[in-house]
Amino acid sequence: SYPTLAGRTAVVTGAASGMGEATARLLAANGARVALLARRAGRLDELAAKIGADGGQALAVAVDITDQASVDAAADRVRAAYGQVDLVVNNAGVMLPNPIAAGRLDEWSRMIDTNLTGALRVIRAFTADLTGAAAAGRTADLVNVSSIASHVVFPDYAVYAATKAGLTQLSAALRTELGPRDVRVTNVEPGLTETELGGHIDNPELAEQLGGMFAAIPALTAEDVADLIGYTVSRRREVNLRQLLVLPTRQA
Ligand code: NDP
Repeated sequence: SYPTLAGRTAVVTGAASGMGEATARLLAANGARVALLARRAGRLDELAAKIGADGGQALAVAVDITDQASVDAAADRVRAAYGQVDLVVNNAGVMLPNPIAAGRLDEWSRMIDTNLTGALRVIRAFTADLTGAAAAGRTADLVNVSSIASHVVFPDYAVYAATKAGLTQLSAALRTELGPRDVRVTNVEPGLTETELGGHIDNPELAEQLGGMFAAIPALTAEDVADLIGYTVSRRREVNLRQLLVLPTRQA
């Protein structure tokens, strides 16, 4: 358990499933107030109810991070309910692999607009909260969920890898602006993790290939990644674990 999380005000994107859901649960179980952001309102309502039943505080806020107006409206709702946010977990993402030769501009746009520009929209909406909280002496965190795909490349995942490499470099660059203002920036790079991420792949061979990877090695769970995020955001505010690269033991 992470007692220093009590009283923090968190926003978690992609909270409808996978790592985002697990992170939201962990933060709430440790006493943070958590705004749950994703598109599927029903999932968020269910999660908010579960967190509430477990004695935690959560607010379901349906948002599409590819839409700036939607993100701004969500940020206003969060601030109206909870006040200043001091912890942002930019976790929402999509992975849509296909050979580059397929020329799937639709998938490329969705990945770039969600994984990279979407994260930027959320950062834009909450940076003033984070710097304000830090200036008031509170611990402030920006956590970006990138991927091992930002370092390790394999065929058919080029655009996904590019979005994640971009996010990893964005995290490193933002530290130079936000670190001096006492806002920590942490970049998380998980390996193979059991979630819904692969469910949107529309290339049957690549869906099968990913299934084979999960069959070959015991993957991380969403809770494993959430636990590491909980650990890093509960250090003393002078301590910034800037990069968390975590792999299943058997993943090369
Ligand atoms: P999931 O698919 O379970 O979670 C992704 C979440 O993002 C969903 O809750 C989804 O909710 C949300 N989301 C997607 N698009 C949008 C959007 N436009 N606006 C708002 N929310 C959106 O997968 P994971 O938990 O695995 O993914 C979390 C992060 O982890 C992603 O960034 C992914 O790239 C990264 N990652 C995953 C790895 C893995 O092996 N699983 C490995 C390395 C990194 P909804 O559909 O309701 O909007």
